[in-house]
Amino acid sequence: MSLHPTTPAFKENAHRALGDTELQKALGHVQGGFINKRAAAVERLPEFETLRESARDLKDHVLAHLDLYLEHYETQVRAAGGQVHFARTGEEACKTIVDICKAHGAKSVTKGKSMVSEEIGLNDAIEAAGMAAVETDLGEYIIQLRHETPSHIIAPAVHLTKEQVEADFRRVHSHLDAARDLSEPVQLLTEARGVLREKFLAADVGITGANFLVAETGSSIIVTNEGNGDLTQTLPKVHIVIASIEKIVPTLEDASLLMRVLARSATGQDMSVYTTLSTGPRRAGDPDGPEHYHIVLVDNGRSSMLGGEFEDMLRCIRCGACMNHCPIYHAIGGHAYGWVYPGPMGAVLTPALIGVEKGGNLPNASTFCGRCEAVCPVKIPLPNLMRHWREREFERHLTPAVQRFGLGIWGFFARRPSLYRLATSLAMRVLGFVGRDKGRFAKLPLASGWTQFRDMPAPSGETFQSEWRARQKERRS
Ligand code: SF4
Repeated sequence: MSLHPTTPAFKENAHRALGDTELQKALGHVQGGFINKRAAAVERLPEFETLRESARDLKDHVLAHLDLYLEHYETQVRAAGGQVHFARTGEEACKTIVDICKAHGAKSVTKGKSMVSEEIGLNDAIEAAGMAAVETDLGEYIIQLRHETPSHIIAPAVHLTKEQVEADFRRVHSHLDAARDLSEPVQLLTEARGVLREKFLAADVGITGANFLVAETGSSIIVTNEGNGDLTQTLPKVHIVIASIEKIVPTLEDASLLMRVLARSATGQDMSVYTTLSTGPRRAGDPDGPEHYHIVLVDNGRSSMLGGEFEDMLRCIRCGACMNHCPIYHAIGGHAYGWVYPGPMGAVLTPALIGVEKGGNLPNASTFCGRCEAVCPVKIPLPNLMRHWREREFERHLTPAVQRFGLGIWGFFARRPSLYRLATSLAMRVLGFVGRDKGRFAKLPLASGWTQFRDMPAPSGETFQSEWRARQKERRS
């Protein structure tokens, strides 16, 4: 993952994405599959709404006592024979991990899917130190072959079609029979499995992320559907877990509460196929497992979100439901967002991590339809948080001058309700009169971005406020 975000070029990125026919074809899968499966899974669990509330409360409790739970977690990991490293920044985390790998003479490192490792540019750091980093999650493996970044937090290669993946496998797996049939997804899967098996066996270090870290036991938990995480963490002699600090939960029971909403929200499964807990290195008598166990806890800007306007964002359990239900994400995919985290959660988290100066475009990429908040398993008020970022942009004079001018005029009238009503009713009458013949405007000054692609209906009847007042009066009489 490049550490240089293209987020400031969001508009150009989005424009390119809209014209990319392969991408548009691939994005159809997000709109259909994920949404329907989630809806069916929620339907099957009557207490889902109650679970969402409990999940929100649990995460809020943890964030309010994060220091205590982290300390307890550290104690428990050490008691189980593992080592804990705290990293304030991405650079510190990369250095810690590279140093561990070097200390064990590693040449090859396998990796399970981890968004925080993308955030800190871990693969680049490992490769710069002369070691090979091999992604073992199928989607991550595919995009690594293409030197791309993930476009979705749970389905990194969702922007690709089957045909594109086949072409990549033929290009990279050139040692295999050129006449082999790869027309079915299962054939692609089998081929990747065969290639990756050798990488698993050759790896000196395995790195996984963590869905949850359990303070009570010092365990890290990963949920996957491929089993690649298990092979990544049990076969090499060293296992490194990388996780951001807010992944902590107090007890195993708490982790199971979050797992009940995670898989349903993410893929519509009642549970993911594999749920794996790891607690320290291999113990005497264990048939397998790593000899060394390290956990690298990454802050990278999160502690500065605690206690502030954006703390709610730290509840995120990375299910991807908000992007699966976002009309903007559906239209442009994840790469247009220009950094690690796309969709509504990225629109809030990215400015917090890289600064609103670079990430300010993202909170504006929303229709505020509210679907993201409605499906979020931990009830993060995403539209509200995006609104806060817009306010910050406005305060810091980062909003374009024309927009500031327009908002200034609107603000002037909004503070004077009688004048506002008069102005809107006048504007409506003028527009209604000018557009009376065609009934719509194909071009409208100050709204060319809108009328370039669709007509604007000429207003007819009364303003919204007049209609509303009339109805209220009717109801009272
Ligand atoms: S913000 Fe909510 S819906 Fe979006 S990824 Fe995070 S937990 Fe899931």
